[in-house]
Amino acid sequence: MTMEHGEDCCVKVAVHVRPLIGDEKLQGCKDCIAIVPGKPQVQIGSHSFTFDHVYGSTGTPSAAMFDECVAPLVEGLFQGYNATVLAYGQTGSGKTYTMGTACKEGSYIGIIPRAMAALFEKIEGLKSQVEFQLRVSFIEILKEEVRDLLDPATAVVGKVENGNGHAKMSMPGKPPVQIRESSNGVITLAGLTEVHVTTQKEMTACLEQGSLSRATGSTNMNNQSSRSHAIFTITLEQMRKTDPIMTSDGMAIEDFNEDYLCAKLHLVDLAGSERAKRTGSDGLRFKEACISPADINAEETLNTLKYANRAR
Ligand code: ADP
Ligand code: MG
Repeated sequence: MTMEHGEDCCVKVAVHVRPLIGDEKLQGCKDCIAIVPGKPQVQIGSHSFTFDHVYGSTGTPSAAMFDECVAPLVEGLFQGYNATVLAYGQTGSGKTYTMGTACKEGSYIGIIPRAMAALFEKIEGLKSQVEFQLRVSFIEILKEEVRDLLDPATAVVGKVENGNGHAKMSMPGKPPVQIRESSNGVITLAGLTEVHVTTQKEMTACLEQGSLSRATGSTNMNNQSSRSHAIFTITLEQMRKTDPIMTSDGMAIEDFNEDYLCAKLHLVDLAGSERAKRTGSDGLRFKEACISPADINAEETLNTLKYANRAR
């Protein structure tokens, strides 16, 4: 996970090691990652890496990860700082789970729902002095195409019968969102749905609706979610209601003095990192896959750690 914050665009890297899951245990996989106690350091085989933060597989790591890595970014939004949180790693490493992009029921609370809760708590405390406007967008990027997950048209997906009589979902009919770059280098997504929200419940509904739209697309597209990036963006606009400026005889010169700030938080669930380098060698790699899943994961994990190390 990388975090970007502030004018100087600093990048921080936190590593989250998830526990072995049922399938891996059944296959007899062993935990090949060691976390150095008291240090943000991981060891895999003879390799050792140090990051800004490392979170282990016990407890609810997203709570500590949120508090230390993401909560400051949510705070920063109120000072007008843009921020991006990227979840990077191989398919199955826990990106969607940790980010909370799939918005599944359960006790685990991912980064996105936690960010929402922190945001609304802060707004609640400030709303007497500041007027807030919140918008969210949710997109999926697949093969350089941008799909608008909050487009009202994609929420209603028609069913088409295939030859075997099985119902399959048709792909939403809306043309992909256009990516435009202005002469000053600003990138905009033309035609993208931005939903105005006023409550945490409304924002959660957007996450749920978009996640459903993403999942629905994937039933047709051979586990699309591992090949696509999902970006949930929260835009916070603020109008500060500062005290009126008074003349010496107590008259208000300006009875309403506004201070405007706008900042965005991008929460990104990236495509599986193993996809990037799977070019023409799928057959070969598949053969290597046939040896031991644990070994393959170790190789991918090592790649992820090397990449994350370079990102700092
Ligand atoms: P990715 O999005 O990176 O492909 P997922 O988030 O879908 O991976 O996680 C893969 C599997 O691992 C899922 O079954 C998920 O429930 C499980 N999992 C991920 N992180 C954790 C965790 N911290 N604790 C328990 N199970 C986890
Ligand atoms: Mg995923």
